[in-house]
Amino acid sequence: MLTNDQLSQWDRENFFHPSTHLAQHARGETATRVITTGQGCHIEDRDGTKLLDAFAGLYCVNVGYGRTEIADAIAAQAKELAYYHAYVGHGTEASITLSKMILDRAPAHMSKVYFGLSGSDANETNIKLIWYYNNILGRPEKKKIISRWRGYHGSGLMTGSLTGLELFHKKFDLPLAQVIHTEAPYYFRRPDLAMSEEAFSAYCAAELEQLIEREGADTIAAFIGEPVLGTGGIVPPPKGYWEAIQPILEKHDILLVADEVVTGFGRLGTMFGSDHYGLKPDLITIAKGLTSAYAPLSGSIVGDKMWKVLEQGTDENGPIGHGWTYSAHPIGAAAGVANLKLIDDMNLVANAGETGAHFRKAMTDALGDHAKVGDIRGEGMLCAVELVDDKDNRTFFDPSQKVGAQIASALLSKGVIARAMPQGDILGFAPPLCLTPAEAEEVATKTGEAVRDVLG
Ligand code: PLP
Repeated sequence: MLTNDQLSQWDRENFFHPSTHLAQHARGETATRVITTGQGCHIEDRDGTKLLDAFAGLYCVNVGYGRTEIADAIAAQAKELAYYHAYVGHGTEASITLSKMILDRAPAHMSKVYFGLSGSDANETNIKLIWYYNNILGRPEKKKIISRWRGYHGSGLMTGSLTGLELFHKKFDLPLAQVIHTEAPYYFRRPDLAMSEEAFSAYCAAELEQLIEREGADTIAAFIGEPVLGTGGIVPPPKGYWEAIQPILEKHDILLVADEVVTGFGRLGTMFGSDHYGLKPDLITIAKGLTSAYAPLSGSIVGDKMWKVLEQGTDENGPIGHGWTYSAHPIGAAAGVANLKLIDDMNLVANAGETGAHFRKAMTDALGDHAKVGDIRGEGMLCAVELVDDKDNRTFFDPSQKVGAQIASALLSKGVIARAMPQGDILGFAPPLCLTPAEAEEVATKTGEAVRDVLG
C-alpha cells in the first residue's frame, strides 16, 4: 500500500484539483485529504479520521454514503452491459425506466428527459434547446438569457456566464454577451433595511421588469433561477418572490428554467422545488440528487410547450443536432433507478422537511443570540449561518479576514464538515437527507462552539 507521504507527493505533482488555490496546493500549504470510505452521514479518511459530512459532498449524496442497494445495481448493470449509446432511439431498460420515474415525480406539465452527466452540461443543453426553440418559432432575435446575481448554474462557458458569482467570471472573459444578470432575491442583503420581505420581492420584480424594458422583450428568451439560491449563499426566496416574477415572464413570453440541481428529489422536503414554490417551469435542470452522486448523471426535463416545438423542428430540419457519447449512460441510469427507489423506501423527502426544520431550530438555539450571527436561514435540509461584523447596522467583515473559512476550519477540527460559501462569510449546510435528529443537534452544537472559538 502506498504511504500517505507518497500519495501526497503524487497529488501535488500530478493532480489539477477543481476549485482549488493551485499555487498553495502545489507548494504544500494546503492538506491533501484522501477519503477512503463512508457510511450514512459520515466519511472517513486514510488516517482513520471520521467526519460528519454536513454538506453531503457537494450537496449531492442525498441518500447518504455506503448504500449497497445502489452499488449492487451499478455492479449488475456493469456486468450485463456497461455501455451502449442512446442515439437514434437506442436505450436500456434502466434509462427508459428512469425517464419514466423522473416524469412520474416531476410537475404535471413536463414531457421528456434529456440525459447528460453534470449540472453544467444539462444547463448548456437547456440554453441550446431554448435557442433552437426560438429559431423554429421564427424569432432569431429572442436569445438573451436572464440570470440572477449569486445564481449558480455551472462553470462551463455558457453556464459559468449564467453563474452570477465574481470568482467564476474574473479572468475568464465571462459572462458571454448573451447573458444578463438581475437582482438576487437575497432578503438579508436588501438595499434598504426598512423593506419588508414582500416589498423586497416587489423591488426584485420591478428591477426585472426594467431590465426587460431596457433590453427589449423581443431579445430575451429565458430566465433561469434556482428555487432556493444555493452556492450564492443558501438563500430561500423572500415571501411573494416567485409569485411576483412569474407573471412578468409570462407577459413577455420569456421561458422559465428552474435549476433544480440542488433542490430536485427531496432536498426542500418536497420532490421538486418547483412544487414547493408553485413554479411552472418550461425546463427543469436535474443532477446531484438524481443518483445521489453514486454515478455522474444529469437531466434536462423539457415541458410540453417546448417539446411540441422541438418535434416540429426535427420534422423541418432532421434529427436534433445535440448528443453526448455518454447521454443516458447505463451505469448512471441504473444508479438513478436504485437511488430514486431508495429515496421512497427510506422516506427521505419527509425526513428532509422534518429533520431539516429540527436542524435549523437547533442552530437557532445554538447561535441565534450571538452578536456576530446576522442570519440563520434555510428550507428543508438546507441551512446557512451568515456572520456579520455588526448585527444592528448589518455591516460585514472585510473578506480578507476569511471569517467564514476560519469557522469552517474550526468546525472541521471538531469532526464536522460545513462549507464556507464562496461569496460572503456564510457557513453552508446541506446534509444527506437521512440526517437524524441527534446528528442535527451535534452539528448545531459544534457549529456554536466553532463560532465562539473564532469570534468569541
Ligand atoms: N446548478 C446548480 C444549482 C448547482 O448547484 C450546480 C453545482 O453545484 C450546477 C448547476 C452545476 O453542476 P455540476 O457541478 O454537476 O456541473
